[in-house]
Amino acid sequence: MAKPKLPEDFKKQMFALLGEEEFASFAQSLDFPAKTSIRLNPQKRTNIDTPKKEILWCTDGFILEERPSFSLDPLWHSGAYYVQESSSMFIDWILRSLKIPKGVFLDMSAAPGGKSTLLSSYLGNDGLLVSNEVIQSRAQILKENIIKWGLGNTIVTNNDPEHFDDLEGLFDCVLVDAPCSGEGMFRKDPNARKEWSLDNVSLCSARQSRILDHCGALVKGGGYLIYSTCTFNEKENEDMIGFLIEEFAFKPVRIPVKEEWGIRESNIETSEGVFYGYRFFPHQVPGEGFFVSVLKRPDDSFSLRPKRAKDFKHPYLKEIRDNDSEKLDEVTGFDGNGKFYTLNDSYFRIQKSLLPEFELILRSLNVRYFGTEIGKRKGGNWIPSAEWALSTLPKKEFSTLSLNRKQALAFLRKEEIKLNEIPLGWILVDYEGQSLGWLKNLGNRINNYYPKEWRIRKHSD
Ligand code: SAM
Repeated sequence: MAKPKLPEDFKKQMFALLGEEEFASFAQSLDFPAKTSIRLNPQKRTNIDTPKKEILWCTDGFILEERPSFSLDPLWHSGAYYVQESSSMFIDWILRSLKIPKGVFLDMSAAPGGKSTLLSSYLGNDGLLVSNEVIQSRAQILKENIIKWGLGNTIVTNNDPEHFDDLEGLFDCVLVDAPCSGEGMFRKDPNARKEWSLDNVSLCSARQSRILDHCGALVKGGGYLIYSTCTFNEKENEDMIGFLIEEFAFKPVRIPVKEEWGIRESNIETSEGVFYGYRFFPHQVPGEGFFVSVLKRPDDSFSLRPKRAKDFKHPYLKEIRDNDSEKLDEVTGFDGNGKFYTLNDSYFRIQKSLLPEFELILRSLNVRYFGTEIGKRKGGNWIPSAEWALSTLPKKEFSTLSLNRKQALAFLRKEEIKLNEIPLGWILVDYEGQSLGWLKNLGNRINNYYPKEWRIRKHSD
């Protein structure tokens, strides 16, 4: 099917940005198919044996030669990898090359979770990520992707940026991957061309400055703000950096970029000197359009250092006392570095290391998920959760069963699986070493505990 034409005003804008000759290469690149890329989950090491090429700025990123059917790959459902556009994976290089200190990170516009899963992997056991999405339905998808990624270091929230004002000075790093006019997606999603207009660019820019107005002060002294969009125009990019430095104290950050990567650096002249922006054009990089800029808060800016309240009080959550936590650690085989909470009958675990920050976030925001849900107590019985199965936490007291691809897909569809001589009780099922969920063998029948809402409905390509 013919793609919608590029809007005339967009062409004029790109002429001005690239010059006439380069514009021709840019426009031509939009006629080629977009490449498919994935990022492996470094905490769930797995082998993907399809032909692939490394992405130079992301340790775990690969461009695939062909697009497989992800929804029919059990490894995708296990959180062993995430399908992400390759330019966006540059965030990995930013974190590593600047050695951004691990601590409390915020991803303000996080759904569906591409950059949050990347941040979560970078932080590992040494930090806490607040992954926020303002639109409720999108927060649900975000939650699912965070659960499947499985690191247990993330809090999923569903808030407007203005709800964060009590958390000023808390974050070591704030990522604002802003909603934008999407010019960089014109190849991957040609219909985005129909929604584009100069008016829409102005609307997006106004919305971005509203978001940034709440984000600038959230960064603690010495912390970083990363601003990104998937659009090319200056109104949504350079002008937003200008806006930030008019409103807040920030210092410029230059990212070391290799020439052969094809990324274009721009100098952003501001009242506080030159700042830097990085543009990814589809005729120069093996990915889609993207813009990113990094700013650093001066060391003497305000930093919030919360203390734990003597009595933890929350309208729904209850803290589990230390000696009961120890018992839980003992039965589960966890490492003792977690703190447990209950919500109704469900048990949740989060790392102990940043508890004052965690409890402040719990009190300030609309939390949709946090850490790892371990399981539920129901009428004296213990039901391990799918979240635990998909997490990287140990599950050593359970029987395990490795499924072949056909059986794994049947499990994920919640269909009956033919199995001989399996032990009674709870069984953790995996595919190629990656946990998928739980079966319970009652002797006369086997129950499948894969969550209904995640069930795959697709049968073939
Ligand atoms: N960071 C995501 C990822 O890598 O998967 C993509 C984020 S997308 C570019 C922008 C997100 O901003 C969308 O999920 C959108 O719902 C959210 N958004 C829309 N309006 C917003 C607002 N006023 N404040 C904050 N976020 C908003």
